Amino acid sequence: MEYISTRGSAEALDFEGATLAGLASDGGLYLPREWPSFAPEEIAAMAGLPYAQLAAKIMAPFVGGSLSADELLALCEEAYGRFSHKAVTPLAQLDEQQWLLELFHGPTLAFKDVALQLLGLFFENFLSRRKSNLTIVGATSGDTGSAAIDAVAGREGIDIFMLHPAGRISDVQRRQMTTVRAPNVYNIAMDGSFDDAQAMVKRMFGDADVTGRFNIGAVNSINWARLMAQVVYYFAAALQLGSPACKVAFSVPTGNFGDVFAGYVAAQMGLPIERLIVATNVNDILHRAISDGDYSAGEVTPTVAPSMDIQVSSNFERLLFDCGGRDGDAMAEQMRAFEASKAMQLTNAQREGAAKLFTSSRTDGEQLSQTLRWAHENAGQVLDPHTAIGLHAALEAQIDPAIPVVTLATAHPAKFRDAVERAIGQRPALPARVGDLFAREEAYDELPGTYEAVRDYVTSRATPAN
Ligand SMILES: *Cc1c(COP(=O)(O)O)cnc(C)c1O
Repeated sequence: MEYISTRGSAEALDFEGATLAGLASDGGLYLPREWPSFAPEEIAAMAGLPYAQLAAKIMAPFVGGSLSADELLALCEEAYGRFSHKAVTPLAQLDEQQWLLELFHGPTLAFKDVALQLLGLFFENFLSRRKSNLTIVGATSGDTGSAAIDAVAGREGIDIFMLHPAGRISDVQRRQMTTVRAPNVYNIAMDGSFDDAQAMVKRMFGDADVTGRFNIGAVNSINWARLMAQVVYYFAAALQLGSPACKVAFSVPTGNFGDVFAGYVAAQMGLPIERLIVATNVNDILHRAISDGDYSAGEVTPTVAPSMDIQVSSNFERLLFDCGGRDGDAMAEQMRAFEASKAMQLTNAQREGAAKLFTSSRTDGEQLSQTLRWAHENAGQVLDPHTAIGLHAALEAQIDPAIPVVTLATAHPAKFRDAVERAIGQRPALPARVGDLFAREEAYDELPGTYEAVRDYVTSRATPAN
């Protein structure tokens, strides 16, 4: 399979190349040149497969010649063997129509583990073949940092430098990063906000002095391999609910549009998806874009669902490109204008293409608390705040009662204990697998918020490309 950039001018790469590159050299995002698809009989034959085998089957056409079928299966078995539930992403039933897809059984309690555990293994495999080293530099407001660190700690050929805004993430989130003790893991508490940290990282990707000596890599959801791994659980859930003989709708708590775009990919591959509901909090740029074509960024409002507190959704470009006729030059032009003015209108083709599958909804703080209480009282389920936003959107979506609606449960409630306790008066316990988090020793370095300090820290510790 070949991967092309949404902005049309970067060279096409194979799966291995696209995975190691992250962002395309023209600033675009990689997508497969065409969507592979499965016939209904092929999908029906996947029912009942163990998760790792299902994953290997669904990802095989995307991985192409970069790994053999046996190699891919072995990596899936290793990655998903680290989950605490045998089904990896089990379903829970809330009422006659509503279901939860539990994506938080990985090591760091959020859905990002599903893709990052596998991405860490892809990196290690491809780097050992090329005999080269990768320096991952990232900024995190919480969940991505811990999942990425857990996925690459101790792996050959990789160093990871993760910046977090000092004092601005939860204790659980910080400890999940800083208590991982491995010689290739560097945690940095930086003075400033998440946006400041993110700006440092972007600057480093464009600093020829750094990129000339080191292979700088990305672990955020601009990396195609992450989205690909997330396609699998849409199939897993739909198969359990009777697909391909019947349709299923999904409601997805959305920030960067990575998770819900994976659902779009599943539909392109032949999974009969009735609808994808894009659930946002009050940071509702995607709700405005999908409901009336207005994609314009404002200020970020901090909420109790911090992983959805974004104004610009990087993966939305992938949908606009695919629905807009896959015209790289036009996409590059549209994104240049957006980057200058922070606002754009979707074209008619983009709006109509999106409307075939997507609807959207916005949930405020009061609705979120009510939904946490509803799930607790009616189904005995303690949800995390992100999941509650997804469920609120699902409950008001008015889907045909014969069609099951699956809300993606993106984090374990213990990760956001304070907000959950305020709503339902009960404090979720940390699962046994992370139970000693507060007894473990932390290690991190504090840096001032200047580019020079961060650059010198990274370049004096990272391993050169080869
Ligand atoms: C990252 C994250 C999201 C948002 O996912 P996107 O792929 O960025 O849309 C939602 N919920 C939780 C708990 C997350 O960690």
